[in-house]
Amino acid sequence: MPDLSAETRSLLASLDVPADALAGDMPVRSPVDGREIARVVAATPQGAHEGIAAARAAFLAWRLVPAPRRGELVRLLGEELRAGKQALGRLVSIEVGKSPSEGLGEVQEMIDICDFAVGLSRQLHGLTIMTERPEHRMMETWHPLGVTGVISAFNFPVAVWSWNAALALVCGNSVVWKPSEKTPLTALACAAIFRRAAARFAASGSAVPDGLLVLLNGGREIGEILVDHPDVPLVSATGSTAMGRAVGQRLAARFARAILELGGNNAAIVTPSADLELTLRGVAFAAMGTAGQRCTTLRRLFVHDGIYDGFVARLKSAYESVTVGSPLDEGNLVGPLIDAAAMERMQQALDAARALGGVVTGGNREKAGEFPDAFYARPALVEMAGQAGPVLDETFAPILYVMKYTDLDQAIAAQNAVPQGLSSAVFTTDLRQAERFLSAAGSDCGIANVNIGTSGAEIGGAFGGEKETGGGRESGSDAWKGYMRRATNTINYGSTLPLAQGVSFDIG
Ligand code: NAD
Repeated sequence: MPDLSAETRSLLASLDVPADALAGDMPVRSPVDGREIARVVAATPQGAHEGIAAARAAFLAWRLVPAPRRGELVRLLGEELRAGKQALGRLVSIEVGKSPSEGLGEVQEMIDICDFAVGLSRQLHGLTIMTERPEHRMMETWHPLGVTGVISAFNFPVAVWSWNAALALVCGNSVVWKPSEKTPLTALACAAIFRRAAARFAASGSAVPDGLLVLLNGGREIGEILVDHPDVPLVSATGSTAMGRAVGQRLAARFARAILELGGNNAAIVTPSADLELTLRGVAFAAMGTAGQRCTTLRRLFVHDGIYDGFVARLKSAYESVTVGSPLDEGNLVGPLIDAAAMERMQQALDAARALGGVVTGGNREKAGEFPDAFYARPALVEMAGQAGPVLDETFAPILYVMKYTDLDQAIAAQNAVPQGLSSAVFTTDLRQAERFLSAAGSDCGIANVNIGTSGAEIGGAFGGEKETGGGRESGSDAWKGYMRRATNTINYGSTLPLAQGVSFDIG
């Protein structure tokens, strides 16, 4: 096994992360071998307050920069991400245990959202609206909102920041970022890449105000400062439903805006007409990829009883043969869980499923000899008679609960009968069944797919889910509106003052 600590230091240095950022006492472990790879400086509460004040000052200047100029900074950020893609992708692999292609894919997603945001910087437009009054005009204008707080989860340590930051920056906001306490290194790398872009922007003649991006490494208590701070009008928080429940209520108490991107319990339905080769690959990637640690990971599968036995037998053999091991070796498809607690929760869920009569294939710990301090698990396929116990919860690990169905509407109802509402899919070649699944009587999720799995969204669409997934939307489509405030303007270009709805108020 290579020395990941030395490699990490050299990757961070290559991205211009200052050495003193690594002179702290907040330990960082790689899930690849479970060993400590660095110690970073954590933010103090006082530092958090100072950071928010700096971001507020930066916002007051940045909001006046024309949006297409703001887009130029994000264009440069995209260029610097392209230049740093290999190093940052490798760091993602080391810090969260993703395969090389998934680590690089995450950085590609950051580049994609920068490209999207650059175009958006010329399209932050509102409507012109007819009025009932003569010689009047109504319109909408969209204005920068303020400091955008970003709280992110460990499993997409850099992409989630970029989805938020690229939009917030072109919208005229400053950003204060509290990454997961498990992933401070990739956050330091992003901040360094941002500084490179800012230096080039400044060299082109426009200053970037200090505090436009503030990084606060630390735990939940630092996130809470962001959540409660009156100078932070919007917090975009990605993580567990438990986190979102706490954060959402605190933001609501001070009428701040929330974009909540929380847990999923995603399902797919395999109909009798499905292309089974395609379905097998779609299910395998969605359920086992990233070791089941995506919010969009496939966790429940409903298979029509007419094809159940043959399809599930093939799926089981994929579960038995998939390669589990160090994600840094190209041949392995399933890497480690993030830590011991994740393995513990996986085993508890499997025990609970067994107690309910579930039949478990896989799920055992692997590689304990090679990596005694890391936690690799063979993905688990669990055949269940129905939905109960752990099937109704998100366990952030590679567990797929498989169930039989006979009637599509019954399968759709079962799919929707969980508290979460993030992603869903149907595998079918029957047009009527596909459209029914996508209709108002179909999936109740924020993402509903046909003939692709539940994971692997692109940045062009709005991303997020319903119910306990939090209701937030970020990334593409019109998600940018969540980062701006809308003003409705009525302009009277006449010389009389007609009142709306025929109201009269004659003061003589
Ligand atoms: P987590 O909830 O443990 O932590 C997420 C972040 O919230 C961390 O930065 C943490 O420090 C912070 N935090 C926790 N409690 C807080 C509080 N009370 N106030 C302020 N900040 C607080 O989640 P995790 O284990 O890092 O990530 C896995 C979870 O994230 C899964 O549930 C997964 O589904 C979800 N997730 C959702 C999406 C999505 O877009 N819907 C994307 C990625 C991950």
